[in-house]
This record gives sequence, structure tokens and C-alpha cells, in this order.
Amino acid sequence: MMEELILKVPPGRICIKDGKCPAGHSLMSRDKLLDGKPAIVVEVRLKGRTGTIYLNPFYGKFEYECDLELAQDDIVALSCPTCDASLTVEDTCRLCNIPMFAIHLPDGGQVEACPRIGCHNHSLTIVDLDAQLSRYYEDEIRFKM
Ligand SMILES: [Zn+2]
Ligand SMILES: [Zn+2]
Repeated sequence: MMEELILKVPPGRICIKDGKCPAGHSLMSRDKLLDGKPAIVVEVRLKGRTGTIYLNPFYGKFEYECDLELAQDDIVALSCPTCDASLTVEDTCRLCNIPMFAIHLPDGGQVEACPRIGCHNHSLTIVDLDAQLSRYYEDEIRFKM
């Protein structure tokens, strides 16, 4: 049976290794590293400008690098750099009341986060717990060593 739960995990413990757009394109950068791991690369739009944003792949870390200048409280629109599909989802941020965006994970899980710069609301949903958790724990152990 599929199980679904939202985890509360401390920042920096889980590294997203296989983030995808809704159409299944990988969002992992081939050449950009953040904290020593491949960054999540996404197309970003703000006020008519388009750029590229690199997100820290560690869940709960909000560092990013972007070629657009982003200010506190800017609300960005994020999409797949390959197919341009929007990453916006129906769930709204309970703090900002705007739609969240999602990075899809293998086996149906996803990371959702708020697209307002400075808002740190986010959640991690994992489906098929056994398979995913064993993978994550493996990472966590390696990360601590
Ligand atoms: Zn895509
Ligand atoms: Zn928010």
C-alpha cells in the first residue's frame, strides 16, 4: 500500500538527488554544486524578466544563486528549464496565502516550498516510505561522517 506522510526533518539532513519537473525532466544541475552536491536548477521569472536560479539541494536550506536580482518578498514564478512546465501547485503557503511550488521526487513524493523570497515555509512529502527512507537514511549517515 502507498503511504504518505509529511516529515518534519531538521534542515540540511536530507539531500535531494533526483528532483524532477511534473513532466519528469531532471532538475539537477550537471555542473553547479551547492554545499558540494549538484544544485537544483530551475527557470525563474520575476516582473517580466527570466533567469536561472540554483537552489541548495539540502532540504531546509534556503541558499540560492540567481542571475536575476531578487529582493526580500519578491514572489518568483518557477518552471522547468527543459519544457517550461510551471512548478506551481494548488497548495497555498499558510503564511503568504499564495500557491506553493513543488519539486517532484521519485516514487511520487515531493518537496513543496513557498516562492516568496524570505519565506521559509516548506514541506516534504514522501510516498512509499520504506524505499525512500532507506535511501535517505543512507544519505544521512554518509553526510554525518
Ligand atoms: Zn520539464
Ligand atoms: Zn510563504
